[in-house]
Amino acid sequence: MTTSLAPRFLAVQQQIAEAARVAGRDPAGIRLLAVSKTQEPVQINALHALGQVAFGENYIQEALVKQPNCSPTIEWHCIGPVQSNKSRLVAEHFAWCQSLHSLKLARRLAEQRPSHLPPLHCCIQLHIGDEANKSGVSPAEALALAEAVVTLPSLCLRGVMCIPPVSDSVPEQRRYFAEAKAVYQQLQHRFEGIDTLSMGMSADLAAAIAEGSTMVRVGTALFGPRAKR
Ligand SMILES: *Cc1c(COP(=O)(O)O)cnc(C)c1O
Repeated sequence: MTTSLAPRFLAVQQQIAEAARVAGRDPAGIRLLAVSKTQEPVQINALHALGQVAFGENYIQEALVKQPNCSPTIEWHCIGPVQSNKSRLVAEHFAWCQSLHSLKLARRLAEQRPSHLPPLHCCIQLHIGDEANKSGVSPAEALALAEAVVTLPSLCLRGVMCIPPVSDSVPEQRRYFAEAKAVYQQLQHRFEGIDTLSMGMSADLAAAIAEGSTMVRVGTALFGPRAKR
C-alpha cells in the first residue's frame, strides 16, 4: 500500500506547482495538508517520512486513536465538525482547528488549550454555497467572529477555510472560491497575521489555487480512494 505513496505525493506537488505557474503565483505560497481520515498510521508515517508535515483529520475520535502510533513531529489539523463536548480533545491534541464555526466553540477552545502548548492556530470555517448540510459561518458573520477570536490569547487566528458544494464546472468552483477569498482579504485588511486561505481538495485544487488558496487539503490524490466507512 505504501509503495504508491511517493509517486502520488510527487504528482500532487507537481499539480500544485503547475496550478501556481498558470496563476502566476509562487508555489512556495501554497501549503499542502494531507487529509488522512481513514488512513492507518503506517500510511501516515510513510508520507511523513517523505517530508509531509501537516495532516488533517475529520473525526476527532479516530485521530486520537491513531496519533499515539504516528510520528510526534506531525502537525495535526482538525478539519471536521467539532461538537462542544469534543472541544477539549481538539484543544489538547491538535496544532490547528480549521473548523471554527462559533464564538462558543472559540471560547471553549481558548479556555481548554493547555498552557504548555503554543496557541491553537485557527481558521474560521465559511459556509459557501447554499448546501444545507455544511457547517460554517456566512461571509457576513465571519468578521464579527474574527473580532472576538483575536481577543482570545490562547488562540491564533490564521484565516478562513471553506468546503464549497461539489461542482464539475470550473467557473462555478472559482465563483465559490472567490467568495471565500473576499472574506480572507477583509480579515487580512483588519488583523495581523492572517495568512491562511484553506481551500481546494483533490478534485478542485487548481481552481482554488487560481483564486488564491494558500493551503490545499488533499486526501484521495495522495492516498488513493478511501474505503467506505
Ligand atoms: C475529506 C476532506 C478533504 C480531502 O478530500 P479529497 O477529495 O479526498 O482530497 C479535504 N477537506 C475536508 C474538510 C475533508 O473532509
